[in-house]
Amino acid sequence: MNAIAEVLPIDLKRETIVPFHTFLWKVASRCNLNCSYCYVYNLGDDRWREQPHFMSESVARRVAQRILDHCRAHGKEHFRIVFHGGEPLLGGFSHIETLVTILESTFADSGIRFHVGIQSNGLLFSEALGDFMLQHKMSIGVSTDGPPKYNDRYRVDHQGRPSTAALEEKLTLLLSPAYRPIFAGVLCVIDIDSDPVEVFDYLDAFNPGSIDFLFPLDNHDRRPRGKEHDVRVTPYGDWLIAAFDRWWAGSGKNRVRIFNSIVRQAYGLPSLVESLGLDPVDLVVVETNGEIEAVDSLKSAYNGAARLGYNVFDHDFDTVASDAAVQRRQLGANELSETCRQCHVVNICGGGYLPHRYAAANGFDNPSVYSTDLEKLILHIHYVVRSTLAAELESVTA
Ligand code: SF4
Repeated sequence: MNAIAEVLPIDLKRETIVPFHTFLWKVASRCNLNCSYCYVYNLGDDRWREQPHFMSESVARRVAQRILDHCRAHGKEHFRIVFHGGEPLLGGFSHIETLVTILESTFADSGIRFHVGIQSNGLLFSEALGDFMLQHKMSIGVSTDGPPKYNDRYRVDHQGRPSTAALEEKLTLLLSPAYRPIFAGVLCVIDIDSDPVEVFDYLDAFNPGSIDFLFPLDNHDRRPRGKEHDVRVTPYGDWLIAAFDRWWAGSGKNRVRIFNSIVRQAYGLPSLVESLGLDPVDLVVVETNGEIEAVDSLKSAYNGAARLGYNVFDHDFDTVASDAAVQRRQLGANELSETCRQCHVVNICGGGYLPHRYAAANGFDNPSVYSTDLEKLILHIHYVVRSTLAAELESVTA
């Protein structure tokens, strides 16, 4: 039995496979930064030490072939690859070029299309890489937690030195007209000690197109800062509400995916983020050595939490998609704790992100440790949207 199945009740199973759509490749297992909150290196799981530094050509060829077989078996005409790490650019431009060439040659003449995105800290971005990415219609998202006084608190290198100045230089290059088409947005981990309006304004000023706010990867055993003594308090919900109000009052030129997802779901549209909503999860992770894992950030929970026991040399993706632990994340409200199933905002919240539900005592059979934050944020956004629509209706009918 794999690690997740051990802590999830597995009496529920889908009758059909949900084919994977997003394949997250851990193309490098080391990083040039050492962010103190990083789930790969500084939280529950230290198996990265056993991983090769970079994904080899033989692993990449095997994964690409497995994806091709999976797409053909399910009539899939397109899919997504995300190069992740560690820092995915650590192997240099030639490593990225090799991986993309392998993908393109595997899918040549297949009629199946794919998009390659990179999630990076941005520090190793170069013009050569940008030109290659433009040519191959790739995209890149970059992590930053806001202005230097906040970003440099946690996002430091292995000597503890700050990273913002170097990142801002790269962002200027990435957001120049030449490379703007490949820029996919910024990703920001919430620090409740930061000023949400200041952080939002800083990110918004880059005009990144898309902003992702992420909750820190904590759970019921390792409580988030500000919720150590009482999980019912809502510092993260309050932080996000302040950022939302700023966003809602502004030009809205940049999408904020958590806010857009809440509004969209209220009107029956799918969520834009894996961490919200009841849609089946169709993402799978391939480690640097070819192991196939469940959601990568589960590593924050405990050692081996993401392990499924499969690898691309011995197992195909249908076998993985049939695994009870994978299917648990595709069962909608049926997979959630009793508290979540009874919750009035469950259709939008979806019980919160899986790693946030963890407690050693009962695995993932809990609401998110951010439950009250999520509920407050969802209700606030609904209230604001409905009030705005009501005011507009009144002005039309007056
Ligand atoms: S708000 Fe809380 S109880 Fe409701 S679905 Fe989300 S995590 Fe579960």
